[in-house]
Amino acid sequence: MNFNMRLFDSHSHIDDKSYDCDFDEMMQRSFNAGVEAIMVAGVTPETIAKAIKIAQRYNNDYQQGDKHSGCDYYCSETPEQDQVHKRLHCNFSQTETPEENHTQQQHVFISVGMHPHDAQYCSDDIIDDYKLLARQNPSVVKAWGETGLDFNRMHSPRDLQEKWFVRQLEAADELSLPVIFHERDSDGKFLQILESMNHRERKGVVHCFSGTKQEMFGYLDLGYYIGITGILTVQQRGMLLRELALLIPEERIVIETDAPYLTPVPMKNKTRRNEPAFVEHVLHKLAQIRGVKVETLAEVLWNNTCSLYNISL
Ligand SMILES: [Zn+2]
Ligand SMILES: [Zn+2]
Repeated sequence: MNFNMRLFDSHSHIDDKSYDCDFDEMMQRSFNAGVEAIMVAGVTPETIAKAIKIAQRYNNDYQQGDKHSGCDYYCSETPEQDQVHKRLHCNFSQTETPEENHTQQQHVFISVGMHPHDAQYCSDDIIDDYKLLARQNPSVVKAWGETGLDFNRMHSPRDLQEKWFVRQLEAADELSLPVIFHERDSDGKFLQILESMNHRERKGVVHCFSGTKQEMFGYLDLGYYIGITGILTVQQRGMLLRELALLIPEERIVIETDAPYLTPVPMKNKTRRNEPAFVEHVLHKLAQIRGVKVETLAEVLWNNTCSLYNISL
């Protein structure tokens, strides 16, 4: 790892339960790989409740140098949250890693949103809760999302996906938060909604971009960033993405893991679970495809992600 580089995993789900058993080790590995900042994308109120505690621990406690004050965040809450606390705190106490993280300045940010898969469970109350959370935690909540349309798996009915996508766009605009978009197989409907609700001031990223060339230029025309995952490294599945990744203006690309999903090659052959440390493989592949130096591209991508999420580090 080249220590001049700092990487930003622009989209992950490190609140996933698959990390409960080795969370601090996983974070240490990501730091060793140069990952100094991680965005945890929100999916449901439950995942966000856990993510915000992780982010608060990393951004506040570690910087204050008190490795036990994390407890305060967990007290007198629901039994589920208490369970999460116990799991995290057990891991937390067993390792020397957290104190090292204090000086390492690793940053974790979150977004609030309802994933299109879960659109059928969304409500005005949930949107109001998200707004409150964002207003109360401006140093941690840096985006709205995931929101968008996913007509591939159809976990929620189409009309509800569309309804809550529109409502979440309005909420994000109200709070002036950048938006993390999730789109899969929406047959142009997603782009159509974005075009009809265009807002000049709105920033956003189409994460895990998997659309057509025409759609990609549609997103770029609206001013959005394109999020590239480890799919780029996969021989068959990444073919079109590798072609399109060449065409994105440099200042509009960000990289992500979408961990624990979409493990990039060569880690794919070794472990099923993806993690932020592996974002370096996306970086290397992208540099190779675009014919640019890894270090130069890393700096561009870091700046792009900070600019997308209005973060200065
Ligand atoms: Zn997604
Ligand atoms: Zn995601």
